[in-house]
Amino acid sequence: MKEIKCLVCGGKHFRKGYYEIDVNVDIYPTAYNNVDVSSRSFDDVHIDVDVDISTSIENEIVESGEIFYKLVSEEKDKYSNYDSTVEVYKYNCEDCGYIMNFTQEKNVESKHEEKMRKQKENTYDWSKFGK
Ligand SMILES: [Zn+2]
Repeated sequence: MKEIKCLVCGGKHFRKGYYEIDVNVDIYPTAYNNVDVSSRSFDDVHIDVDVDISTSIENEIVESGEIFYKLVSEEKDKYSNYDSTVEVYKYNCEDCGYIMNFTQEKNVESKHEEKMRKQKENTYDWSKFGK
């Protein structure tokens, strides 16, 4: 069950974690006013004028913010020498807070998960006990 242990304190309980990227979003709104004036009919007494104003807003949205962990290529041929993106798995030692990174998924258990598992195992044992 406990595949890894903390390099710093030897702790065996880990929480899984990840980085959240603060994404910056800029919105540049541009408003267009469209005024239509039309006079339907008029004489000396009545002037009937229609004023139609429509506003349209166009938003230009610019956002950025991506993070990748790149594995540097070992290929010597410069045409196929591309670095590849690999997933990073992060595990946070619950005893000392040390964060360990792996490019492979590890089977870890937090203190809470261990407690829940033991509770579940106990429940299971009790149900067997009844038979
Ligand atoms: Zn530790």
